[in-house]
Amino acid sequence: RGKRAFIAGVADDNGYGWAIAKSLAAAGAEILVGTWVPALNIFESNLRRGKFDESRKLPDGSLMEITKVYPLDAVYDKPEDVPEDVKTNKRYSGSSNWTVQEVVETVKQDFGSIDILVHSLANGPEVSKSLLETSRKGYLAAVSASSYSFVSLLKHFVPIMNPGGASISLTYIASERIIPGYGGGMSSAKAALESDTRVLAFEAGRKHKIRVNTISAGPLGSRAAKAIGFIDMMIDYSLTNAPLPRELTAEEIGNTAAFLASPLASAITGAVVYVDNGLNAMGVGV
Ligand code: NAD
Repeated sequence: RGKRAFIAGVADDNGYGWAIAKSLAAAGAEILVGTWVPALNIFESNLRRGKFDESRKLPDGSLMEITKVYPLDAVYDKPEDVPEDVKTNKRYSGSSNWTVQEVVETVKQDFGSIDILVHSLANGPEVSKSLLETSRKGYLAAVSASSYSFVSLLKHFVPIMNPGGASISLTYIASERIIPGYGGGMSSAKAALESDTRVLAFEAGRKHKIRVNTISAGPLGSRAAKAIGFIDMMIDYSLTNAPLPRELTAEEIGNTAAFLASPLASAITGAVVYVDNGLNAMGVGV
């Protein structure tokens, strides 16, 4: 049997989640995706209308099939956690069963188990504010959407993950080096995500034989990155200063994820794997 992957954080064909889905599909995995509730309608209608057909193309010429799209809001663990104003919001009330617990229950009913969990989502409402200017609410929202969302997804999925399975998240060098402009507590959220990768590798490894790794990706002009506002500058900076002064493609992150999820990486867990043309290794720009 081929492996089954659940990829949380796919809402268009530009981001890392989409590229990871493609690489896993090319390696023979069955693809399930979790799409942020407010982005669900547009994503599903674009998918239906063939808007992504060109970018669904796999190396063998076939088109990536997404077996099922699940609405998901990873800042809520269970229905009781959803505030009234969100419940009644037009963008949410049209969908159901989108808290983490309900999504996992639905996946279990639909398919029984998964092998690969990918977390490719982040949100920091105050990302454009410096850390000094970030409110408590904004900071906690960044950590809730970008870090605890992974803890929660793994915690709920791990009971239905087959032993030998793997999980992967996406992080950014701003967790360990100063990247002015990556504000709102997002740098803190990525530091938490990387630390949790180690602790969860131990816990999920001992208890469930599941590996936990994170990819520290270089800059990509995704929808989320464009919202931060400095992505073109970061791409230019990398092109000028990285050991490999070349464009970074989402496919390269996708291929690394496929490797990390495969038996080729059977002894790799608790790792932060840099896929950034080597930029992390530089001490100064040149
Ligand atoms: P993206 O916009 O493709 O992905 C982010 C996704 O998160 C979106 O689909 C969005 O709908 C979803 N999302 C936001 N809040 C959510 C919630 N509460 N519940 C469920 N989904 C939610 O952008 P991306 O840049 O590919 O981001 C994917 C991951 O890669 C993120 O963790 C990001 O921090 C990381 N990353 C990105 C870059 C970059 O330069 N783009 C660099 C390093 C790491």
